[in-house]
Amino acid sequence: MNVIFIAPPAAGKGTQAEMLEKEYNMYHLSTGDLLREIASSKTELGKNVKELIDNGKLIDDELMLKLLKEKISSLKVNGIIFDGFPRTIHQAEMLDELLENMNQKIDSVIYLEVDKEVALKRATGRVTCSNCGSIYNIYFDNIKDNKCNNCGNELSKRMDDTEEKFNTRFDTYLNNTKPVIDYYQNNGLLNTVSSMGDKLEIFNNIKSIIEGK
Ligand code: AMP
Repeated sequence: MNVIFIAPPAAGKGTQAEMLEKEYNMYHLSTGDLLREIASSKTELGKNVKELIDNGKLIDDELMLKLLKEKISSLKVNGIIFDGFPRTIHQAEMLDELLENMNQKIDSVIYLEVDKEVALKRATGRVTCSNCGSIYNIYFDNIKDNKCNNCGNELSKRMDDTEEKFNTRFDTYLNNTKPVIDYYQNNGLLNTVSSMGDKLEIFNNIKSIIEGK
């Protein structure tokens, strides 16, 4: 089973994808994480990617496809959770073609709906653990001494989680990614889930959709 998460920035798709990965033993493929890893290298590509991420802009479709192909071809898994891909109509078309060539398909698309104000609070309060990938929020979670509750590693904030960068990312989402929702609506694959409440409640709603497939 292959699942796509589409959502505005900081709607909780990373958190939900992580929970889904554990529940169904699927592979959580976050293109944001993949790109942040590239951005941390001192190469020319790393510098370019970092600049785009830090400014809330999208990395170009051809490079995204190349990275995705490399990643997918090395995976031997039960299914993939696409977190952050596709973000443009062109990427959605490229993903369909790529999966078709592998005799695979997308089974379900989960659109996490959230108000802009709630997403902003989630973005500005978000801290992550670079060691185990856990995600927390300084406003809602109980964190001590800025340490990960899971592994004790120091927590860090993303450069693009400031209010200004969040606003740019939100505009990028409205212009480029919102049309992708119509694409999957037309394909009959779209499921809308409210991402406004408690994360377990949201997760249970996602699970009933996945299990109904
Ligand atoms: P995320 O972790 O999903 O919030 O992504 C962080 C940043 O990575 C985005 O704001 C973009 O700059 C970049 N990014 C992630 N996924 C994609 C994608 N599919 N296409 C282009 N850029 C992406």
